Amino acid sequence: MVRIALIPGDGIGPEVVRAAKDVMRVAAEKHGLDLTLDDWDLGADRYLRDGTTLSPEDRDRLVGDYDAALLGALGDPRVPDNVHARDILLGLRLFADLYVNYRPCKLLVPALSPLRNPDPATDIVFFRENTEGLYAGMGGSFKTGTADEIAIEESLNTYKGVERIVRAAFEHALATGRTSVTLVDKANVLAYEGGLWRRVFAEVGSEFPGIDRNAMYVDAMAMDLVRRPQRYEVVVTSNLFGDILSDLAAQITGGLGLAPSGNINPQSWALFEPVHGSAPDIAGKGIANPVAAVACVSLALGHLGMEEAAADVDDCIRASFEEGVTTPDLGGTATTREAGRWMAARLLDAATG
Ligand code: ATP
Repeated sequence: MVRIALIPGDGIGPEVVRAAKDVMRVAAEKHGLDLTLDDWDLGADRYLRDGTTLSPEDRDRLVGDYDAALLGALGDPRVPDNVHARDILLGLRLFADLYVNYRPCKLLVPALSPLRNPDPATDIVFFRENTEGLYAGMGGSFKTGTADEIAIEESLNTYKGVERIVRAAFEHALATGRTSVTLVDKANVLAYEGGLWRRVFAEVGSEFPGIDRNAMYVDAMAMDLVRRPQRYEVVVTSNLFGDILSDLAAQITGGLGLAPSGNINPQSWALFEPVHGSAPDIAGKGIANPVAAVACVSLALGHLGMEEAAADVDDCIRASFEEGVTTPDLGGTATTREAGRWMAARLLDAATG
């Protein structure tokens, strides 16, 4: 039996997760999967109600009793510093050591790209290091608020941390038939961390003789992603560069409403979430695009070894574009619910047709 925890969360989260749930149920039915989906009451409402962000008991049960989780979005204007979002996301990321931030950017519909002549073959997978780098929270602020203020952020890079994300990228390339992995860094200026990343990249890469290795500086990569994104297959990089470049690639391949992501520990647990946030400006209006959340269903199924079911979900997303069943952000007239139901029905039709 496969158990997935659903955390609808805040803003448009509950709306897009409902659509994802419809699709996931049908995918399970069609492929004979014994799937349990449980809703979890975590997010701003819970925090404002009883002060709970993520209790140790909830955290233990989520990671211990479930194979994976699907999160809608966290972030609510009623919680000014969004302390609940930080506690929940960081709490799970650190507790389950979710060191891979996995972000596929595939051009499903060329017309959705802002590029003039997008190559339909554009299909990049980002492996962003998810626990270290400049996001480790190391540093300090001194003489704060004075003219002598000093602010320091330190970039943490460990051999273990670099080795495991680089290895995950090569293993993914091998498993999915991709022929190259690109390392992105700024080794010409950030020499200490660059030296470590480049050495480990060569060392681990030598274990995968069939896979080409390229290294790019982040500034050149930003230009090349716009110029010829189809050149790249698997990209491995640090927390900061991965954050920025994967947003750039997501926009090139269709925008925020479509982009899914996974926070993954390849040895154990994973949390999937759309790249978009809680979008308070459109929450409750029924117009949020559910595709990113549905694409998370595909990632989750693939991660759990259910490749055929995952491919079916991708097909139903593609069909919704081809048939023009899209939400207003993509020029359509469907509501979130209608788009979700259409994809679920399409999946079911494909089962019986
Ligand atoms: P957060 O702080 O939670 O990230 P945000 O509003 O700053 O929230 P997003 O939620 O990512 O950032 O939204 C950015 C813009 O994109 C908003 O105008 C929002 O309405 C739009 N947007 C985001 N997700 C979707 C979606 N699924 N469908 C349609 N529009 C979306």
